[in-house]
Amino acid sequence: MGLGVNLWHKAWALSWVVVILSACSHYTPVKPVNYLVGNADNNISASVNLIDEQTLLADFETMSSPEFAGRKYGTLGNELAQQFIVSQLKAAGVAPFKGEYQHPFEYERGLTVYQGTNIIGVKPGSSGQIIVISAHFDHIGKKSGQYYLGADDNASGTTAVLHIAKAFEQVATQHTLIYLFTDAEEENLIGARAFAEQNPQVMATTALNVNLDMISGAKYTKRLYYLPYKVEQVAPKYWQGQLAYFAMQHQLSVRKGPRAYQTIQGQKKKTNWRSASDHGVFYRYKVPFLYFGVGTHQNYHTPQDTFDNTNHDFYLAAVKTIFDQVLTLEQQIE
Ligand SMILES: [Zn+2]
Repeated sequence: MGLGVNLWHKAWALSWVVVILSACSHYTPVKPVNYLVGNADNNISASVNLIDEQTLLADFETMSSPEFAGRKYGTLGNELAQQFIVSQLKAAGVAPFKGEYQHPFEYERGLTVYQGTNIIGVKPGSSGQIIVISAHFDHIGKKSGQYYLGADDNASGTTAVLHIAKAFEQVATQHTLIYLFTDAEEENLIGARAFAEQNPQVMATTALNVNLDMISGAKYTKRLYYLPYKVEQVAPKYWQGQLAYFAMQHQLSVRKGPRAYQTIQGQKKKTNWRSASDHGVFYRYKVPFLYFGVGTHQNYHTPQDTFDNTNHDFYLAAVKTIFDQVLTLEQQIE
């Protein structure tokens, strides 16, 4: 999906919103030193050439399709989703982690044994440090005869990580990049917990986790939130200004957050964002993390969370902004 004539009007109007917003923002945009990797044009960020909008949206639609039936752990739809992720990693030339893409686990909680499968790809690096880029691919399946397809939650993040992995194959990197697609996140982060227990060495040498969960929102969504934990320990102190710069390039509004209280269907609900998704497991291991998401909205955990009800222009801008930021952090982390 390209930037058509109508969209230019929208982009023009939006650019004023961004100018005003960034003027109010706490962080002054900073033009990053190395933001032009893989690019000859001095005014275009790397993501513009390395992230293909059409295939990104097509894969997002596939990930949230009825064929995968809401991707609940232990179901056929979930297995089909796994096969799709693996085929995409293979096609992009992303290597399997420890020789396998599929990493099954059993996880006991009380009297219940949960069985699931994380999908993991890797781009080996020479530095001895690791960046784990994660998204859960499972959702909640079928309830009371209705399918919950989980487009925003979290076909959006899953497809973004796939395309970020593809893009990273096109550029030189120094650190080991692990692409972690977790299962059973919806059962209180079980897949991420299993990954941490199966890979203590990885947890000990991970410099940063970047976790994506719900980055396309609903039709009316206008802002991407980010939640950092100890990022300043590994990144330059102006990293938030750098993020503001990329967001401005893609006409995206970003803000540190999310809010602790959100109004959903008339009710005020409190969410602990530090443990709301898989970054919560990295937090427990004291690994710096950077989470991106829109927060809860009217379609959250309802049958209305479908591909058609997400905000596609917002999603494209979010994926490109996140890729530019992670690419730059990859170069900056020492
Ligand atoms: Zn989620």
